[in-house]
This record gives sequence, structure tokens and C-alpha cells, in this order.
Amino acid sequence: MNILHGSTRAAQSSPAVAFKAALINPYELGRQSFNLAAPAALLKAAGFDVVCLDLTLQKLDPDVLRGAGLVAIHLGMHTATRIAVAALPKIRALAPSAHVCMYGLYAAMNEALLRGLGVQTLLGGEFETGLLALAGRLRDGDDGDDGAQREPLVNFSRVAFVTPDRTGLPKLAQYAHLILPDGGAKITGFTETTRGCKHLCRHCPVVPVYEGKFRTVDKEVVLADIAQQVAAGAAHISFGDPDFFNGPTHARKVLEAMHARFPQLTFDATIKIQHLLNHAELLPVLREFGCLFVTSAVESVDDGILDHFDKHHTRADFERALTLCRASGISLAPTFVSFTPWTTLDGYLDLLRELVRLKLQEAVPAVQLSIRLLVPQGSYLLRLPDFVDRLEPFDSELLGYPWHHADPSVDALQREVQAVAIRMESATRAEVFGEIWRLAHAAAGRKEPSLDGVDPGPPVPRLSEPWYCCSEPTEQQLQSF
Ligand code: SF4
Repeated sequence: MNILHGSTRAAQSSPAVAFKAALINPYELGRQSFNLAAPAALLKAAGFDVVCLDLTLQKLDPDVLRGAGLVAIHLGMHTATRIAVAALPKIRALAPSAHVCMYGLYAAMNEALLRGLGVQTLLGGEFETGLLALAGRLRDGDDGDDGAQREPLVNFSRVAFVTPDRTGLPKLAQYAHLILPDGGAKITGFTETTRGCKHLCRHCPVVPVYEGKFRTVDKEVVLADIAQQVAAGAAHISFGDPDFFNGPTHARKVLEAMHARFPQLTFDATIKIQHLLNHAELLPVLREFGCLFVTSAVESVDDGILDHFDKHHTRADFERALTLCRASGISLAPTFVSFTPWTTLDGYLDLLRELVRLKLQEAVPAVQLSIRLLVPQGSYLLRLPDFVDRLEPFDSELLGYPWHHADPSVDALQREVQAVAIRMESATRAEVFGEIWRLAHAAAGRKEPSLDGVDPGPPVPRLSEPWYCCSEPTEQQLQSF
């Protein structure tokens, strides 16, 4: 990898000309993307004519793309990458003379595939630096004639962020919103205080790119971004950091300032179990500053699988973190990789029983109980002895290494649970859980104990589009552009 460390390379300071840069976000869990708004602001400040398209809510618009000299597509997650690959021919047809760049976490990881599709520039890590340099040289007429990318594939140098520019995006109220346990709703803003992660969980897509590093966004930039979203109607902020407590001091300073300025504003964040335990003294502080719920990548209740993932927490740690959160008045929304090559039918039943025992049926959306381990290019799982032997060759359509469980009935159950999650989308979480409970017991040849009268746990605040990282896109998403 061509990796740049050191100071930020400034954009070229050419006089402003009408060079058009189009930024496209294929999908980001229904959130209004920081990673579209942040580069939009930097490019505009450097004199570029910037247009944005968010395929979550918009179609590829010929008028918007016409005349673009640069099309930059944000690949923040697996689903976005699949949609981007499907949309690429249409984007090329609508902007035939544009230089095509893809940026974000999944751009660097899928370098070979994306270059094979003719994507000229790929930018990972702190991508804004490279994006500014690329736009600058294209404006200056330097498209490169050797086909080689000039900008580093992965950049870790700090970006001098300015307030993200969200003016070119659909209205905040059209995006995913907070749903309260009483059925009320709040317009939700989305921002980030950090990127990357200091941990090395083997299954995590952040790890092959950031390799244990994280970078902060200036407190003042985060606060200005929050303020403009409050002005646009946000009553809740969802922090999109891979882990909000990678920099607990930074997080606390942001929250203190946010709460002082907007005392009614609530928020949620993603924090790993290990951090919830190590910084338990901060949980009441989070609550005081307006935290409604914390999403945590629990992944499994099987200590052996947690060890394969190198998660640095155990099943007992999960329960301790849940108890601490509840004692602080914060809901915990655990996420899971429910199906792995190590999952057994009994292990899956064990997960369901644990959710019943911990009264978490209402806290876990069905999609979490259907997620199947994805093994992307560069995954640290590939470093596990013997793991590669379980995989098929890389599948460029799936963007991963396919695997089949040694017990076909586990794969069959995963497909059934996934179908239930889609079919019962409008049912209550407890109803869907009951159906998955029945299916899992049938698959294991067991009679299911009745859940009648069992407390499903308190309903929890949640976003209208459930969080997931590595699930497959639906056909509808793949054709949405
Ligand atoms: S799973 Fe979470 S804690 Fe682990 S490396 Fe990824 S972002 Fe960091």
C-alpha cells in the first residue's frame, strides 16, 4: 500500500474555475452522511463547484452529474460498496468525461476489484487530503497519462476539517429518525468525533485500513456540525464513530460543550464492551449529558467465538456492561454476528436463551439475529491458522470470501431467519423473536419452551433504520439508484 504519514498536503491553490466535483453517497444506514458533507465543505472552500447525491433518498440525476470533471463515491460500508459497483455503469454513462474516484473504508480494501472496474483513484483512511489534491490537479488539467494514482491509497495524516456543508443534501427530516419507547419520534442528526479505531478485532472492516489507529475531528468542528443540524430540526444526535470511547477525554469535552449549549438534545453512540467496563465511571456522565442508548458490538455470547474475533470481552463482561448501563439509565443495544463457521445450532439457541434471560428481546432487531460473518479482503480473520481452509476463493460480486458451514442445517437456519427478518419487518420485535425462537428449536430438533408470560424486556429507543455493518444489500437497494 502507498501510505502517507505526516502532515496534511494542502490542496493546490489554483484560481477558482468552474470545475465540477460530484460527491455520491450510495448508502449509510439512512443517515445524512458526515463523509459527504465534510469533503463537500473542503472542496467548496477550495473553490470547486460541488454537487452531492445521496442515493439513500435520491436517484442518479443526469442534470446533477452533467459536466462533472470528478465523481467521488463514498464507500463507508459493505452495502454501499455493492450499490456503488452496481451503479457504476450508469454513473459513467451520465458523466462520461469524469475521473472516477471511490473513497472511504471499503475503497482501499477492495483496491484490486475496483481498479479492475476502471475506478481511477481510490482513497482510504483520512481521504479528504487526497480528494482535495486530486480535484486540484484535475482542475489544472493533470489527469495523469500513465494511469497511476498519484495520491496515497491510505492516508493517516490529520485533516484540517471545516464545518461540514450539508446544504446540498436532502432535508434532515427525510433521513432515519429516533423512535422513542412511547412511539414518539425525533429528527436525528449524524456526526463523527473520531475515525478509525485503536483496537484490532479480527472480523472488523476498520482494522485492515486503520490498523489500530484513530483520528479525531476537532471539537469546534463537531459542535458547529451539531449546531447546524439542531438548526435544521435535530433533537437527537447519533455519533457515528466506530467507537466513541477510543478517545474518552475528547468525547467528554464534546458532550460537555454540546450539553451546555443544547441541554435538551439527546444522543446515542457506539461503545465496545471493554470500554464500557474500563470507563464505567463515565456512564452516569453520558446519561447526564443526554445519552439514551449505546450500541455495542457484542457479536457473540460464545467465549470461543469472541476469542476468534479477538474482542477482548467475554459473555460475563457483556452482562456486567449491561448491568452498568441499566444502572445508569442507559439502554444497551447489542449487535451480533449471529452466524459464523463456529456457530452450532445449540450455540444459536444459547444466544436466544441468553437474550431471553437478560430481557433483551426488545433491544435486538431481527436483522442482528440473521447476520452472517462476512470476510472481506484484508480481514484479520485470514491470519487465523486454518481459517483460510474454510473459505472459497474471493467472490468479486459478494466482495468477500464465501464460506459454508460444516453443518448445512446451520446455513439453512440462517436463510430462514433472514427471510423472517424481511417478511416480519412491521411486526413487533417480540413477535419476530418468537418466530425465530420457534425456527431455531425446530432446526435443532427441540420442542421450544413457551415464551408466554416471559418479560421481553423494556422497549428501547432506537433509530428507524437498524444498525448493521456487514449485511448483504437487498435487491431493492441494489436497484434503488
Ligand atoms: S469492532 Fe469496534 S472496537 Fe473492534 S476494531 Fe472494530 S470498531 Fe474497533
